[in-house]
Amino acid sequence: MNPQDLKSYKIRHDRPNCIGCNACASIAPTFWEMSPMDGRSDVIGSSKTEEGWEELEISEADFETNMNCAEACPVNVIHLIKIGSGEQVI
Ligand code: SF4
Repeated sequence: MNPQDLKSYKIRHDRPNCIGCNACASIAPTFWEMSPMDGRSDVIGSSKTEEGWEELEISEADFETNMNCAEACPVNVIHLIKIGSGEQVI
């Protein structure tokens, strides 16, 4: 396996508190899209928790673009967790 493909981080999206500003989907449309159902964003290909959060494991190579999304989110509902240590980077 290519080391670039190893999953190093997990996106955690507090979707219930997303205000649908579209910033994440504009920055990283391969990871984020706006839902036509309720106007909030979705992490493409993610799994859902009981609380309505979305989770997706990503590789090191995809960290920066999703970090840019997290930093741009006006309500701080995008989190990045280091797999292994469990450290919340943002
Ligand atoms: S940047 Fe934050 S508030 Fe805006 S759509 Fe994305 S997750 Fe929702």
